[in-house]
Amino acid sequence: IVRIEGVTKSFGSFIALHEMNLNIASGEFVTFLGPSGCGKSTTLRILGGFETPDTGRVILNGKDVTALPPNKRNVNMVFQDYALFPNMTVRRNIAFGLELKGLGQAAIKARIDELASFLELTAYLDRRPDQLSGGQRQRVALARALAPDPALLLLDEPLGALDAKLRAQVQVELKAIQRRTNKTFFFVTHDQEEALTMSDRIVVMNKGRIEQDGTPEELYFQPASRFVAEFIGETN
Ligand code: ATP
Ligand code: MG
Repeated sequence: IVRIEGVTKSFGSFIALHEMNLNIASGEFVTFLGPSGCGKSTTLRILGGFETPDTGRVILNGKDVTALPPNKRNVNMVFQDYALFPNMTVRRNIAFGLELKGLGQAAIKARIDELASFLELTAYLDRRPDQLSGGQRQRVALARALAPDPALLLLDEPLGALDAKLRAQVQVELKAIQRRTNKTFFFVTHDQEEALTMSDRIVVMNKGRIEQDGTPEELYFQPASRFVAEFIGETN
């Protein structure tokens, strides 16, 4: 269970999140959908422990983690701007979390090969991030976050820099990984189509508030507000 209870977050006089409440069952693929600036990244950062709420609590697996730092939460995050370790090769970037977990060299290599293969990174393992394209960096960030198999994965627009073909391919793989591992994934996107096809549950946000929280079918056929209907109905 993941629970957000009465979470408020302000930056100066600007209220980014208004008393937010959300309950999510474990093992779901949950998508935050909403326009730029509505608070998607802020919510994810609070779940990950990279930002502290002004009020309210964050509960992960029945435990109040509001005061815990990211490394104590069994959570991994892909940031919107990728944030790779610049001085490490792709291989070392991916290996980092596996080494922290104390895996042996052979197991680490097998895991890296597996992730590199499905994310089409095999040819780039010995490069540094500054020698990669944006889409390649984004895939390295995804591989690094998936590698240690955390209970909760926070993915902030992890496919935004991929071309259409690769994006469709990684969408399918990511969904399959979530199904297979039965982990809880929190995914952020602007793309309604992507949200509708990938999610068990979609949380539509607008100006720091949740407009509706439901299955793709509920949002599509029973939108709770004009905002939801228009946002879901928009085509890119
Ligand atoms: P996008 O789709 O553009 O990534 P978002 O929904 O992820 O948008 P957030 O990054 O959560 O939006 O930001 C929500 C609001 O809070 C925005 O108006 C943003 O300008 C503001 N904000 C976020 N972080 C800060 C900060 N550190 N200082 C001041 N304002 C911030
Ligand atoms: Mg964002």
